[in-house]
Amino acid sequence: MSSATRRLLHACRRVASVVEDDERQRRIEWLGQVCNGLHEQFSPLTEGAPAAYIPELSNVDPDLFAIAAVALDGQEQLTGDHDYLFTIQSISKLLVYGLALETHGREAVLERVGVAPTGDLFNAIELDEERHRAPNPMVNAGAIAITDMVGGSREERIEAVAAMFGQYLGRRPEIDEAVWKSERATGNHNRAIAYLLLSHGIIEDRVEETLDVYFAQCSVLVSARDLAMVGATIANSGVHPVTGEQIVSPRVARDMLTVALTCGMYDYAGEWAYTVGIPAKSGVGGGIVGIIPGAGAVAVFSPRLDEHGNSVRGLRVFEALSEEFDMHLFDFDRPWTRA
Ligand code: GLN
Repeated sequence: MSSATRRLLHACRRVASVVEDDERQRRIEWLGQVCNGLHEQFSPLTEGAPAAYIPELSNVDPDLFAIAAVALDGQEQLTGDHDYLFTIQSISKLLVYGLALETHGREAVLERVGVAPTGDLFNAIELDEERHRAPNPMVNAGAIAITDMVGGSREERIEAVAAMFGQYLGRRPEIDEAVWKSERATGNHNRAIAYLLLSHGIIEDRVEETLDVYFAQCSVLVSARDLAMVGATIANSGVHPVTGEQIVSPRVARDMLTVALTCGMYDYAGEWAYTVGIPAKSGVGGGIVGIIPGAGAVAVFSPRLDEHGNSVRGLRVFEALSEEFDMHLFDFDRPWTRA
């Protein structure tokens, strides 16, 4: 290749990348506008109710509503109550799963917790009886087994979980003490699950302590904006878009995305994969984070839940977004990940 041709090629590539940057910027701004529109459209939707089985959760203002999006370069589009802090609840399951995979490796984790969607409620008292393991890490049985794998004393375990959250949030995580206490006081259903796990030798004989750590991880306070940043980190193969820190390896991020896609929305996971088609995780605090691998993440917060424990407005927002932006993983033309 002559040097003139090489120079010409180089110039073409630069022009192409400027055009791509422009295109990406335009799409992100468009996403922001659509999020504003969806916020307005779904604000009047008052179907469902905040979780009440954890008494403290029912004290929330049910009208709160936020949509936040974060791209891989850290750019944000924020709508509504995006900085309001609520408890992360089950979305913590995804992050502690990442911590367990990173610490113990896949095989050790798979020995105790499988990857099969259950089609049952998130707090079903059930195990994979044949393999003596919990069905998957996104339902309570699996999550409690995963939390048990975080080693050390009660304080060391809480510290390990807090340090992991700190990496994602970029600050020391704050725990909602009232929710933590409320879960401890009323969590007998989770106690039943934990004792079933213990009877199968899946967790160690320190049930109260493990549940205490589990309730603590569920009571970590996050905003919709935080959740979108968490999702964007996973979408970015484990690298935090702002700090640049590699929080989990690309392989662990891949495993997290896989279980989020197949099991993240509990017994709604099949419908979610069909209609929205991106890895996601929801929590009974009202948060849902949807992850678009290679592009970024969107988080919605709205405390009214449906019968599966998923935010009603959250589901509507994601359905509309997926349709509008061809976000479904099996859309043949996905502009989001082209650039
Ligand atoms: N802390 C809640 C529980 O264990 C989490 C459930 C959820 O968000 N689905 O019941």
